[in-house]
Amino acid sequence: MRVPEIPEEGAPALRAGDPPAPAPVPARPLIRRSARAPRWRARLADHDAASLAELLRKAGGTASAARAVAGKVVRHAFGAEPGAERPAPAWDAAALAALGVGAWAHEALLALDPGLSLEVAERAPSEDDTLRLVLRARDGALIESVLIPGPARTTLCVSSQVGCARACAFCETGRLGLARQLAAGEIVDQVRIAQALALAEGQARRGAPLRNLVFMGMGEPFDNLGEVLKAIRLLTDPRAFRFAPSHVTVSTVGVADKIEAFFREARAELAVSLNAPDDARRQAIMPVNARFSMAALKEALARSLPPGRRVLFEYVLFDRYNDAPDDADLLAAYVAGLRCRVNVIPCNPGPDPALRPPSAERLDAFVARLSGHGVTTLVRRPRGRDVGGACGQLAGMARVRQPAPA
Ligand code: SF4
Repeated sequence: MRVPEIPEEGAPALRAGDPPAPAPVPARPLIRRSARAPRWRARLADHDAASLAELLRKAGGTASAARAVAGKVVRHAFGAEPGAERPAPAWDAAALAALGVGAWAHEALLALDPGLSLEVAERAPSEDDTLRLVLRARDGALIESVLIPGPARTTLCVSSQVGCARACAFCETGRLGLARQLAAGEIVDQVRIAQALALAEGQARRGAPLRNLVFMGMGEPFDNLGEVLKAIRLLTDPRAFRFAPSHVTVSTVGVADKIEAFFREARAELAVSLNAPDDARRQAIMPVNARFSMAALKEALARSLPPGRRVLFEYVLFDRYNDAPDDADLLAAYVAGLRCRVNVIPCNPGPDPALRPPSAERLDAFVARLSGHGVTTLVRRPRGRDVGGACGQLAGMARVRQPAPA
């Protein structure tokens, strides 16, 4: 989920009845050299326990020995109490032997790099304690993560791609195009870096530990689902990072044909970015709707949502575009029959000046109308807006600093 820009005075207001609205923001030339992750020495954090066991089985172990060693290794390398320090693991033959790992597995394991794949290029602290991080990968690509402290727990907003191909009109990341996918280890390393920072900040300010992850940073997670799922498996592994699956949320723009696979493979929560109450207006700001209509999206959710689970719809509110009382009625009708909540998000400054934040009165009226239909409705207040770290703003810094195409 991401969002828009402070409107210029006198910019024309968009109304529900108007023809499909804001002109698509022209995407910058793709930075695409390859949409695949670059090759480098294989990293330990690119593996969850299952893929590590598979690697060890290919290295000559039996299936059961490979699984046992993989479990010991992820505990050694990544295991720590939430909120506790996670020192760099000892990583040599003596350390593996001390874990009880046989010599047969040493060469395959020690070929993996246990270090971080990212470094902090810039820290931008917000007035509201949010911390936007610009992180540099080993090939120079820049991504952003946002650390959001809360009274009970701290949340990290994680990126899943360098840039994004989905071109939503209200999103800075969408202007970049897709440069490449992030590897699972690069997703996990956003968490490792943020945990260390949250720990340091928490000790200084008695802040809450990092316990919440949201895949709402740069990129469409379902366009890199394999790596995202692998990262989630490691992050929720009780031997490794120990995040509760219910505290991990993946947000999609509605890539309907991946929803079933997501629920089959992950126990994490799903958020779907809706942002309009009908196809015409949704398609005008979210090109994905041309491929997957709202009806197709609803059908995929109804078919795939496991028993007892519910989906979180995100609805970014744009002044006089999708915030009329009638729009709340349409939205209520759309979500009827699905186990869900709706998160209403007043838009943030973004790339399209025609998409403006609603007034407090219009926001309140919309929320009251939607709640009046019996829809569980939440309002997400913006965090980190002053440093470009709120929804829709990520990539502002990255855009100007990405390495030039080869
Ligand atoms: S899918 Fe997400 S990151 Fe990509 S353009 Fe749309 S809102 Fe931005």
